Amino acid sequence: MLSALKRIIQEVNQLPTLYEALDALVCIVKSEMKVDSCSLHLADYRNKEFVLAATNGLEKSAIGKVKIPFNEGLIGLIGEREEPVNVANAFAHPNFKHFPEVKEESFKAFIGTPIIHQRKVLGVISLQQREQRLFDQDDEAFLVTIAAQVALYISNAQASGKFQQPGQELNSYQRFNGIPGSPGLAMGIGLVFNFKHELRTLIPSKTDDIQDQISVYREAVQTTRTQVEQLSANLSDTLPDDVKKIFQLYNQLLDANSLGREVESSIRKGWDASSSLKFVVEAYAARFDNMDDPYMRERAVDIVDLSNRILSNIMDSSHKQAIPDPQQSFILVADEVSAPMLAEFSDTKLNGIVSLKGSNNSHAAILARAMGVPAVMGLDGVSLPLLQSKEIFLDGYSGAVSCNFDDIKRQEYKKLISQEEALFARIDSEADSPPITEDGVSISLLVNAGMSAEVELDQFKQGDGVGLFRTEIPFMMRDRFPSEDEQGKIYRQVLSAHPNKEITMRTLDVGGDKPLTYFPVKEDNPFLGWRGIRLTLDHPDIFLMQVRAMLRASFGLSNLHILLPMVSCVSEIDDAKKLIKQAFLEVKEEAAEQNFVLSKPAVGVMLEVPSVLFLLPQLAERVDFFSVGTNDLTQYLLAVDRNNSNVASLYSSYHPAVLNALHLIQQESTKYRVPATVCGELAGEPIGALILIGMGYRRLSMNAHSLHKINWVIRNTNFKQVRSMIDDLLAQDSPLEIQKQLAFYLESQGLGGLVRAGQ
Ligand code: PEP
Ligand code: MG
Repeated sequence: MLSALKRIIQEVNQLPTLYEALDALVCIVKSEMKVDSCSLHLADYRNKEFVLAATNGLEKSAIGKVKIPFNEGLIGLIGEREEPVNVANAFAHPNFKHFPEVKEESFKAFIGTPIIHQRKVLGVISLQQREQRLFDQDDEAFLVTIAAQVALYISNAQASGKFQQPGQELNSYQRFNGIPGSPGLAMGIGLVFNFKHELRTLIPSKTDDIQDQISVYREAVQTTRTQVEQLSANLSDTLPDDVKKIFQLYNQLLDANSLGREVESSIRKGWDASSSLKFVVEAYAARFDNMDDPYMRERAVDIVDLSNRILSNIMDSSHKQAIPDPQQSFILVADEVSAPMLAEFSDTKLNGIVSLKGSNNSHAAILARAMGVPAVMGLDGVSLPLLQSKEIFLDGYSGAVSCNFDDIKRQEYKKLISQEEALFARIDSEADSPPITEDGVSISLLVNAGMSAEVELDQFKQGDGVGLFRTEIPFMMRDRFPSEDEQGKIYRQVLSAHPNKEITMRTLDVGGDKPLTYFPVKEDNPFLGWRGIRLTLDHPDIFLMQVRAMLRASFGLSNLHILLPMVSCVSEIDDAKKLIKQAFLEVKEEAAEQNFVLSKPAVGVMLEVPSVLFLLPQLAERVDFFSVGTNDLTQYLLAVDRNNSNVASLYSSYHPAVLNALHLIQQESTKYRVPATVCGELAGEPIGALILIGMGYRRLSMNAHSLHKINWVIRNTNFKQVRSMIDDLLAQDSPLEIQKQLAFYLESQGLGGLVRAGQ
């Protein structure tokens, strides 16, 4: 069964459009399961009906025409119950509904199962047999397994452009739903980072000019042959025999009689050169991949590699992809956006970011927010070439990304962008007023910094200090650990930019989604692994070097606060404090020699691992301040990976459990007289800031781009009113309800414009 399943999925995956794939699927399933008919209906939510999309056994002319309302027939029943229905005689079932167009009169036995992806019924796959009988449990289990695979296939099909009908152009309007990464609206031309032509991601398309495409293909093969000959000549002295064999295989494949004949035959059917190459090569690669001989299996990779070279030459000769000029306004599109990647675009017109991987609180999203660039994350399955060189509109509030829009939509988007600009111009114009609520409560607003490649000293001028300086970036941007001097220079810049404001520097918090290339750590669960203080305590050399660099940078200043990340037990604080003391003693003399005063730094702890909720009295005895990391606290309290788009809908800092934890921290920190700052992303969101202020927090640290917005919220907020809502909010069942109530409050205070821009 497993090999049948593998074969089905492999064959289906190679077909260019969803409808062709479904057609192949029903055909193979019918023959594998030895039934008289296999059909697949797709759900159309707009019209609330299931539409026959493929069949092998029923009347083919009914495809696309037979539409079964969601609440009718056996198909409707399966969709409604979200489980298989197995009947010996369909005609005798009370829900049976006859559709004469499908000509199913002779079929009695029926089994169908829903195709479900992320709780949504996408369609129904069903089998029918002439004789009256119940399908057995093995049949049912196999069908359910196929349906689960098909669900993934269908959900990816739209994202990868396969949803088109055969021959349909890809240039029709498309909208994808990702995860909001950084608030804001943006429009620009899609620029795919390090764009490489690959058959895997190529979106098939048709051609009207068959002769032209045949010449394009032949020319590309010729160019590839020359390139391969050159490569093999350059290496011929050093090549071992088995690699020489690979070049021989390349030459055979490039021969017009093997690959070429099949590719040209596909071009003659109307597919363009690159699509034809894709179909033929993927079929070849699948055949090799299925061979028993491991040597031959390996050759699948060579075939794909060679074909990708041909594809690049096809693309070059037909100038298919104009690469956008990064001096124009553009939207950066990448499989996974990273800090070093963004550094490359720091002086370009980067209007927005689309990252296929990651989620709302991945560090890439935090970085985008720090840069004030709208971003959408987690567009899983979207094919990069779909966005390359296309005009894109992205909505960083809702996570929507659109392309191929018409002029009416373009005008609509432009209007939304200018409304947003007007709102922020107004907010910015009032930014000099101090953040004091309508009823006189003063709030300290601090800055989170350190996420960008360069130290942006401008950021430190704003706010009441730096609530969180993330020190990871200089470590991530190099190919070795930065030296003590290199670190010291950066820290000095930061500390001296505002000698009279407190600057909180966090010790290295790598691990999780912030790996170091030169210190690779292989772990099954990196977020639960060797991260933050765990790693640096195991490497006192790294920890001491960093703390010494911080202390040296603070010579003659008294604003250094040291913050310890990822602490989960008391001993970690004791150990870290011992090392800080050691570093202090090591540099003290040096400071004296240079006639500098060396002030003892305040030491604080990040509250971001749930265990610390129950250790607050012990922690309070040991540290000078608390810093609440809502990003990780949410992740660990809810057991939801902050980086995983599959569970993004479960990740919310407005979850009542998270809010109750935050409330507890605030109360305990007041009781033990340890100042607490919130430095997670929640503090920089209008609704989040309202809740935190209502709970009693007086210190919020956020990215510099959120400062003006939150200042505006505070000045238009009545503390007593918000405080009176807190008990009720903490007793709510869901994050949505909590957000709704506060959005309503923002509206009532005349901050409606921020409601859309709320989160
Ligand atoms: C947090 O976890 O809330 C936090 C501020 O730290 P980071 O996002 O860098 O993990
Ligand atoms: Mg954290």
